[in-house]
Amino acid sequence: MRVVVIGSGIVGAAAAYYLSGRGAAVTVVDGGYQGEATQAGAGIVCPWVDHPEDPDWYRLTREGARHYPKLVEELGEDIGYAKVGALLVAEDPADLEPVRALLRRRHPAAPEMGDVTDVSAPAELFPPLSDTLSALLVPGAARVDGSSVRDALLRAAVAQGTEVRTGAATLTPDGEVFVRATTGEGVRLDADMVIVAAGAWTGQVCRPLGVELPVFPRRGQILHATLEGVDTAWWPMVLPRSGPYLLGFPESRVVIGATVEDVGFSPRVTMGGLNEVIEAGLRVAPGLFGATVTETRVGLRPVYAPGSALIGPVTARVVVATGLSAYGLTAGPFTGRIAAALALGEEPPLDITPYAPAIG
Ligand SMILES: Cc1cc2nc3c(=O)[nH]c(=O)nc-3n(C[C@H](O)[C@H](O)[C@H](O)COP(=O)(O)OP(=O)(O)OC[C@H]3O[C@@H](n4cnc5c(N)ncnc54)[C@H](O)[C@@H]3O)c2cc1C
Repeated sequence: MRVVVIGSGIVGAAAAYYLSGRGAAVTVVDGGYQGEATQAGAGIVCPWVDHPEDPDWYRLTREGARHYPKLVEELGEDIGYAKVGALLVAEDPADLEPVRALLRRRHPAAPEMGDVTDVSAPAELFPPLSDTLSALLVPGAARVDGSSVRDALLRAAVAQGTEVRTGAATLTPDGEVFVRATTGEGVRLDADMVIVAAGAWTGQVCRPLGVELPVFPRRGQILHATLEGVDTAWWPMVLPRSGPYLLGFPESRVVIGATVEDVGFSPRVTMGGLNEVIEAGLRVAPGLFGATVTETRVGLRPVYAPGSALIGPVTARVVVATGLSAYGLTAGPFTGRIAAALALGEEPPLDITPYAPAIG
């Protein structure tokens, strides 16, 4: 079985890893497009607090989070994964009640979230926080480094025989699965199956097949700062009930994000975007006032307009896997595994009916 995977973000890299692990001959093609979401992702893996009204989204992200510990063990290298817990914070304690009720309802079927507790002094766990906040702690929440996950998956896939090519891939309409990878001279790749994991670009990639997939980019700008001499590695992430989130990483790094902007394919860091993140971030965590800004990142979250992820066949030989929006670092590896199963004609590890492309 020869499979071409278009896109080597977290979803495509995971698909290549699982496919090659099952013995398929895999080629991954990536054009290195500016705005790839995976390198910009913050790293929150805490599915239980979101999608109260959307069981399909919740199921996918919950299974995605559940998938991580085994993947970490399999990869056997540091992908920035750590169960640091999540502090859900609000100025008004009443604003925490809906999420408390949601977590209580979900706990029996998702005990991995751990026992949720009230925290009277959240700044003891995340020192820059404002001392006016009320908080709940979800101990099972994890953070991860998106680029490290992607790189580790690709390395493991290569070790299993995967070929990686740099170039923009295009599908041709006639034979359904012809892929042209432009690597300067231009190469035609034959494939029995193609997985399109091209993130926000997936709709464009699939257009030659005669299908219109309403996938669009949702821009996120995010800021990295350091607090010199402070050990931030085990700080819990902070998830305000509204406004920006904060995460601690090793090497005194704190990540604050992110904007949510529907501005098309425009992967730019803007004055307004940074201002929004900084202003709101300092309101929640005034102790970051003197932190050193080390980096800004921007990524295009792939959003499927009908509202949940997009995973399934679009033709007999082309499978799409995208639309993970703000949850792709959580559900990306698991989605790659689903896509690999579909390409191999195997039963996927989750019923994909709710995510299947609506092809007219
Ligand atoms: C600021 C920000 C914060 C986020 N925070 C979180 C978080 O905390 N937790 C979480 O779970 N998720 C988070 N996300 C979401 C997550 O990052 C994305 O959902 C996920 O990375 C999407 O992965 P992907 O593989 O589908 O797409 P991408 O990572 O965008 O990868 C798509 C790849 O396809 C390639 N490509 C496109 N077209 C072609 C072509 N024609 N030929 C060859 N290659 C092509 C591109 O170059 C790119 O590398 C965040 C996103 C952003 C932007």
